[in-house]
Amino acid sequence: MSTHEQLIDIDRRSIWHPYSALHPDLPVYPVVSADGVRLKLADGRELIDGMASWWCVIHGYNQPRMNRALADQLQRMAHVMFGGLTHDPAMQLTEQLLAITPPSLDAVFYSDSGSVAVEVAMKMAIQYWQAMDKPARKRFISLRHGYHGDTFGAMSVCDPETGMHGLFKGAVAAQIFVPQPPCRYGRPCRDDDIRPLQQALEKNADQVAAVIMEPIVQGAGGMWFYSAEYLSRARALCDQYNVLLILDEIATGFGRTGKLFACEHAGIEPDIMCIGKALTGGYLSLAATLTGSHVYQAIDGADPGVFMHGPTFMANPLACTAALTSIQLLLESPWQSRITRIENRLREGLAPCRDHPAVTDVRVLGGIGVVELQMPVDMKTMVPEFVAAGVWIRPFGRLVYLMPPYIISDEDLHTLTRAVRETVGKQA
Ligand SMILES: *Cc1c(COP(=O)(O)O)cnc(C)c1O
Repeated sequence: MSTHEQLIDIDRRSIWHPYSALHPDLPVYPVVSADGVRLKLADGRELIDGMASWWCVIHGYNQPRMNRALADQLQRMAHVMFGGLTHDPAMQLTEQLLAITPPSLDAVFYSDSGSVAVEVAMKMAIQYWQAMDKPARKRFISLRHGYHGDTFGAMSVCDPETGMHGLFKGAVAAQIFVPQPPCRYGRPCRDDDIRPLQQALEKNADQVAAVIMEPIVQGAGGMWFYSAEYLSRARALCDQYNVLLILDEIATGFGRTGKLFACEHAGIEPDIMCIGKALTGGYLSLAATLTGSHVYQAIDGADPGVFMHGPTFMANPLACTAALTSIQLLLESPWQSRITRIENRLREGLAPCRDHPAVTDVRVLGGIGVVELQMPVDMKTMVPEFVAAGVWIRPFGRLVYLMPPYIISDEDLHTLTRAVRETVGKQA
């Protein structure tokens, strides 16, 4: 058996972390366990988790009911292929999802990760137009500063500058981009704000399969909160130009923005919706793509008569059990008042950052708090400072942000926002 130090050395030499180099010059911190909102490091230190492990861990770590449900399912069956077979966890989860997602969505395709759920949504849209005898419609309109995942289809609709379009030029499909909605959340959407989308549809409708966007909150592409009216006008434009609307709710789903799904802020429904991240409460990797009868009836009714996708681990029973239990926990919890409380604490705690010259914007929506800086942060100094303050916060680019588990206490929220204020306060 290797010693802990030897294992850490293997990590540094031989394991890639997200968007990292091998032999990174940034520290990676070994975690030995996690409970509630706390991560326990190998050296015994405990960190309050401000990230919910990238939007996922909404009920906290080591949640007793989640653990029990998974242990029970493990005794019955960890996995079985989904081709030609089915099981209670998938059927029960589907019943639950259809009860809480927009009413026009009544079919679910399960996959293993958010990126694949986006691939599936894009394939559905293309197969739909094939079936409708409009095979030229295979491009997508997307918003700048959007993020939809790291696989090829998903990459093609990510922001063309901060995304990987330059690096993979020629290998990534060329899509049509419109500017990030300039109108903030809570504000009206003026004609000028929506005009680029209208013009893109006007010009390209006969080649466009769908408009794809993250509703209300653009996540990893810039943590931007935009007007609900923009979203409702986008829905109206998709109807007007007879184009499908795909909403990527992978980051926003399951209450994070104060609504169960962010499209509810605008009172609209998508033709296709992607969910993932918080779907399993952060326990296992699972995602889903939902759609309505107009889409699946067209696909079923045309050659080859089936939807052409089928992951090996589709609807894994453990992952479906985690998702079902997580949704039950969420619905039985006072999640709206929890999110409102987190929102208020984040507003109070982050507002003083506005006075700092290095800060260009502070914005809070639901369980998401963002401090935007003038300059990209120095991860080499900032992350260790946060760790020294007893918090886990991982900034990116010019953004320092918080999106804690919903069960976090006021006291722990104070510790998180104080750490942000103090660390941002040291920026030149
Ligand atoms: C994280 C994310 C994805 C990709 O999900 P993965 O599970 O990382 O593949 C797609 N869209 C949005 C909006 C996301 O936040």
